[in-house]
Amino acid sequence: MLIRKQFIITGQVQGVGFRPATYKLAKKLKLTGRIYNHAQGVTLQAQGSPEALKNLEAVLKNGAVLPPLAKIKTIKILEIPALKDEAAFTIDPSDQAGQKTSQVLPDTSVCADCLAEMYQPKDFRYLYPFINCTNCGPRYSIIKTIPYDRANTTMADFRMCQKCSKQYNNPSDRRFHAQPVACTNCGPKITLTDKTGKIIQSQSDKVVSTAAKMLKAGKILAVKGIGGFHLAVDASNETAVRQLRLRKKRDHKPFALMARSLKAIRKYAQTTEKTEELLTSPQSPIVLLPKKPKAQIAPSTAPGVGTFGFMLCYAPLHFLLFDYGPEVLVMTSANISDQPLICKNDEALEKLADIADAFVMHNREIFRQVDDSIVHIIADHTALRRRSRGYVPEPIFTQIAAPKHILATGADMKNTFCLAKNNQLILSEHIGDLEDAEVYRHYLASIAHLAGLFEIEPQVIACDLHPAYISTNYALSLKNMEIMRIQHHWAHIASVLAEHNHPSPVIGIECDGTGYGTDGAVWGCELMTADLADFQRIGHLAYYDLPGGDTASKEAIRPAIALLFQAFGDDFNPLDFADILEPIESDTKKHQIILKQLQNGINTVKTSSLGRVFDAVAAIVGLGSQNNFEAQLPIALEAIAAEDIRDCYDFQITADSLLLDLRPAIRQIIHDKRNGLEVSDISAKFHNCLATALAQWAHTAAKRTGLKDIAISGGVFCNRYLTNRLVTALQNKGLNVLLNLQAPANDSGIALGQAAIAAHRLTL
Ligand code: ZN
Ligand code: ZN
Ligand code: FE
Repeated sequence: MLIRKQFIITGQVQGVGFRPATYKLAKKLKLTGRIYNHAQGVTLQAQGSPEALKNLEAVLKNGAVLPPLAKIKTIKILEIPALKDEAAFTIDPSDQAGQKTSQVLPDTSVCADCLAEMYQPKDFRYLYPFINCTNCGPRYSIIKTIPYDRANTTMADFRMCQKCSKQYNNPSDRRFHAQPVACTNCGPKITLTDKTGKIIQSQSDKVVSTAAKMLKAGKILAVKGIGGFHLAVDASNETAVRQLRLRKKRDHKPFALMARSLKAIRKYAQTTEKTEELLTSPQSPIVLLPKKPKAQIAPSTAPGVGTFGFMLCYAPLHFLLFDYGPEVLVMTSANISDQPLICKNDEALEKLADIADAFVMHNREIFRQVDDSIVHIIADHTALRRRSRGYVPEPIFTQIAAPKHILATGADMKNTFCLAKNNQLILSEHIGDLEDAEVYRHYLASIAHLAGLFEIEPQVIACDLHPAYISTNYALSLKNMEIMRIQHHWAHIASVLAEHNHPSPVIGIECDGTGYGTDGAVWGCELMTADLADFQRIGHLAYYDLPGGDTASKEAIRPAIALLFQAFGDDFNPLDFADILEPIESDTKKHQIILKQLQNGINTVKTSSLGRVFDAVAAIVGLGSQNNFEAQLPIALEAIAAEDIRDCYDFQITADSLLLDLRPAIRQIIHDKRNGLEVSDISAKFHNCLATALAQWAHTAAKRTGLKDIAISGGVFCNRYLTNRLVTALQNKGLNVLLNLQAPANDSGIALGQAAIAAHRLTL
């Protein structure tokens, strides 16, 4: 007896080799039928014996033979009439309506099969730096427009040779419909040039060997990769790394590292099963790993932090370079200060001429720049710190479909934006800080591009409440749109709800640097009840006055004096605190000016920012006086916190209004500092104080409201020491904790929360 069944499969099933894998499976099971892509995924019709179909169903459901990049979300199965004379199983190039589909995939690191082939001397892609297949290679970074066909990618310039084309057209080949397929004969090529663009080497193996030799000699190279250029330098060479800092004018921010193998990484950093899995995943992100003591990495690579950001080689070119090159390379994004990553050859030559000694370039154009993603382990979970290459543009799916297309414009710092269509929330790659004009132009272009790829025409715009945000003003400038302005900290909490598909209300704990509050104050340590429909602020860090507007987030002397002024009352005199304040700011006149500002309320803002409290405490204990990059001081404070300390500073929570008061802690910190307590102990006690306070705060709110789920978000929760202890404390109180895992906890996650709120509100 013949039966025929139709399987409608959704998820990540297009462009990942799903159809060829199914084709092979059908042949093995002696099934006939057809498979084709359509707008929502893939439709499979299979015909054969009931047992064979049963087997097919089982295999699809347990995912055993699926290609590595495929992810099935749903399978709808329907029995349909059998066809009489069907003889074979076929892959149809397009659906019944003849329409190609629009699913766009993230870029993926080179797979083991391709890598093995690349090192096979008899293979026609022997040592070819652009080897790829349906399971690996560039995607998002090379797509100009949909449908995802070679003609619409930057591979359009390369005509496939016969050998490549044969593989491309063979359904049982792992390069079947792999759009970027290429080889030594027909594909892109690498060159090594000097800083003027003059070619030094153009023969592939000489390019990599010469480049590696230069790296070993301490030279700085610009290397074009998948999502853009990196600046590469030997990570064991302190002089070279320092030179790179000097030329890049980047004094402090840690550089990312790249190695060829886990074995190499293990020499310098502590790994676990979980982090090794991440390092070797197809997404191949930068993973933040605890430094090993006395690691032989140039000290200037990552000063003042407890971790190294390591990634493994992910492009075939990286592997070839490492065949000759140093064991570990600094591989930092090639950009000028915080401008967009450089991805075009001529732009690289123009802008990096003063930084790089030579350029490893290629002639496959990068259409979209995509930064390396950054991942860390927090409270035993894998959480994204920067969600870009390898993850974008994979949508985050929601239960309820958005009735209209939505654009959420995000926050101004660490901007990402988010689009919503049906059940998909599509969070963009890392864009940057919008106040830079070039970043802003890039932002506008990126919105247009991503909307195009997903065929989205926004009718609703979600944006922040901040009247001075560039992203808000952009939203307000759009004509004929429904605008929803969404409070910053609610959006943070909503980003957690969105990614966990959590429809019911939660207690939210939100801690960050700054966000515009509904009362016009600068919020930054908030307790709320929230769902995607609304939120209510039920507590906050007791306001303190912060002098000096924007500079207050850079110069720690401002929050330091502000918090001492609050903690010691009207009698506070900076002269009595010279031992604490002068190391932070030697100009004592400035102390008096700040005090005057506070006393007279001139150019001060009311704030509940916890980020600034971190800045102040870090400065008070002597870890520096400036944030040269975002959260430099808080990161330094976290890095030194002693693991084995359980002591904790005092705090108060007012019973009626749930105000959190950290004045006792500030007074005790001064006391400990003056009594010569180790800075690592002070830091630990401060972190423990916050973990205890926030847990007790949430617990009180939970008892009052009957809610048991606690969502935590905000940039402060990129701090692993604090978050780990807070999560444990909350769980010990019987509460259920939800964290940001896919969307970053910092302002890069805001857009997701905005989009989720807007989508939800439209359904009410
Ligand atoms: Zn491959
Ligand atoms: Zn070829
Ligand atoms: Fe924020």
